[in-house]
Amino acid sequence: MTYIDRRSFLAAAGATAAYSMLKNADAEPVVGGNRHGPVVIASANGLRAVERAFDLIEQNTDPAAAVVEGVGIVEADPDDMSVGLGGLPNERGVVQLDSSVMHGPTHRAGSVAALENIVHPAQVALKVLQTTDHCMLVGRGALEFARANGFPEQNLLTDRARKVWLKWKRNLSPADDWLDDDQVDLDPADPGHPDEQHTMLDTPPPGWPAGVPYTTGTIHCSALTADGDIGSCTTTSGLSFKIPGRVGDSPIIGAGMYCDNAIGAAGATGRGEAVIESCGSFAVVDEMGRGLDPAEACIAVLKKIVDRSRRQKRLFENGKPVFNVRMYALRKDGAFGSASIFGGKNGTAFAVCTSEGARVEYGPSLYTR
Ligand code: ASP
Repeated sequence: MTYIDRRSFLAAAGATAAYSMLKNADAEPVVGGNRHGPVVIASANGLRAVERAFDLIEQNTDPAAAVVEGVGIVEADPDDMSVGLGGLPNERGVVQLDSSVMHGPTHRAGSVAALENIVHPAQVALKVLQTTDHCMLVGRGALEFARANGFPEQNLLTDRARKVWLKWKRNLSPADDWLDDDQVDLDPADPGHPDEQHTMLDTPPPGWPAGVPYTTGTIHCSALTADGDIGSCTTTSGLSFKIPGRVGDSPIIGAGMYCDNAIGAAGATGRGEAVIESCGSFAVVDEMGRGLDPAEACIAVLKKIVDRSRRQKRLFENGKPVFNVRMYALRKDGAFGSASIFGGKNGTAFAVCTSEGARVEYGPSLYTR
């Protein structure tokens, strides 16, 4: 057995053991039981979004429009550094946003990628769905489409995000003309100081500059109405400091989000490239169609993502992936669940709203941090 083979074997064994431990240890089911709509689920940063979308659905708003409206709260929040206004920029300091939306009853989708200066990319994606015969607009074309539809333009780079970006840029290499942290005076009392903790911190990839927060995030939101109709949406500023023009999984139909009105909906956050390469959200819906419950479907796809990444031999350290992916799933009968590659001791958090109100619930993870 070669070194790589042995590491691969250990990773697979660890993932299986971690999952069965969680399954066996939990007397409570990790999926929402069989209940019918309305049900709205989202990533953990979407508590306000699920509540808003749920209220709208109760007032008979279309599920796609309701989730777009719900995630709009987070898009407009300058404190969420993973979405819309205040999102971390690309390597040139420019915020580029990705979003997609899908409407179950018509099986139509709309998306935008690498969109600049528009705070609500999900609304632009919905316009693509509603008013064109296309699925996806990118870059300048997406911006021109947004302008034509009356979306206002604004600078999305907040001072806080600019400082984080500048710190990353300065500390990238000791060989450039930017002085690193240990060579300049920083004011720790500055409220916009880049060292401050924020909610979306994840484990940085190997080689990440010391002291620079590594941010992943995104908001995914899916909704089921009382009539069994489904809408789904994902919106993000993408990976921090990405190469300009990089498009993640969020605007790719079937990767960052997907729904099938006969089965259910799914979405993803985390390392987009890994999700794209396994058609993550489509695969979760497909697994639910084959009979898996929502959390099991998420776990099955995450295992596949981990397995495929191992084959590429570039994403592992100590036998585990160096990235995280979280998947969210909502089934036609109202059952819901979520799972992640890495989670805390309670598993992975996600937001839910049912007739019992909005709350955070936990799903299983392949590995505990
Ligand atoms: N999935 C997003 C992307 O790859 C980022 C994230 O969710 O952290 O663009």
